[in-house]
Amino acid sequence: MTVALFTLGGTIAMGGVARDGSGGGVVTRLTGADLTAAVPGLADLGLPVEIQDTQAVPSAGLTFGQVLDLLDDASRAVAAGATGVVVTQGTDTLEETAFLADLLWPHQAPFVLTGAMRNPTLAGPDGPANLLAAARVAAAPEARGLGALVAFNDEVHAARWVRKTHSTSTATFASPDLGPIGHVIEGRVRVLTAPRRPGPVFPPRQSGSGPQAGPAPAGFDRERLAATRVALHTLSLDDDGTALEALGATHQGLVVAGFGVGHAPAALAPVLGDLAGRIPVVLTSRCGSGSVLRATYGAVGSEADLQRRGLINAGLLDPYKARILLRLLLAAGAGREAIAEACARLG
Ligand code: ASP
Repeated sequence: MTVALFTLGGTIAMGGVARDGSGGGVVTRLTGADLTAAVPGLADLGLPVEIQDTQAVPSAGLTFGQVLDLLDDASRAVAAGATGVVVTQGTDTLEETAFLADLLWPHQAPFVLTGAMRNPTLAGPDGPANLLAAARVAAAPEARGLGALVAFNDEVHAARWVRKTHSTSTATFASPDLGPIGHVIEGRVRVLTAPRRPGPVFPPRQSGSGPQAGPAPAGFDRERLAATRVALHTLSLDDDGTALEALGATHQGLVVAGFGVGHAPAALAPVLGDLAGRIPVVLTSRCGSGSVLRATYGAVGSEADLQRRGLINAGLLDPYKARILLRLLLAAGAGREAIAEACARLG
């Protein structure tokens, strides 16, 4: 029994300074061995930590393909006996990779993501504490079956609900609609609530299952996923729709982050309706928390009007998570009805 640690880069691993003329800021230098050596208490976990250094990139540069590779490697580690998985990465896209993983992770073993907001060259870096908390969650029986989790600042968040809410605070991760599902208190993992897990949306591959089989679902392949373009457009004051109009020709799907409960300017309602006739268009809120409504407002451009025009209501799914779900569904060949059903179930 082990905890499998995969490192992806990000602030937690940025212990060195670039000397390539790129500005002199910190860059990824630290390996998993460096990270674990900096964590007092990891030795008391009771389980050895097996390290795999993977893609040492800032999280802004991560791709779906890299995350799928990681999930394959993590699946193999679980098949080989790992009790749980820890992934260190940059915080910028962590809420997205966590949700992508949650939609695909078929195991009972927890898949726990963490990172840091204060790099190791600063006073009071948070990486070591976050890594220790993540390892504790990965090893905890209480966390089994909860899918992908984020352990940060001694809180445990469900991937489905977690958001990065602050650009610099060490308390950046929050789940505005739910709150943390647990805490790490004096080293003990306390899971206070276990929300119904939406995933895995896709079943694990049937053929060739076993240590070599990853969690990529039957029905979508990597090439199809790479070729599936899903745009995210956030509406803002006096948006004239020019950027939206061309999307039907270049993209297979669109997520709209609408105003408030899912509203658009009246002039854009026909533009969005036209797009929804060509590609699936998913309606979310740009607010950062709360749900898109279904049947409260009736004006042109309201949520009810946009649904009548064919937009798909994403409920409580935030725009970033809706985009991940839509891209996976399109890559799996889902049509409008299946997308609406998935949005209704997960949103
Ligand atoms: N830019 C960094 C990244 O996401 C920030 C971080 O790690 O917090 O890779």
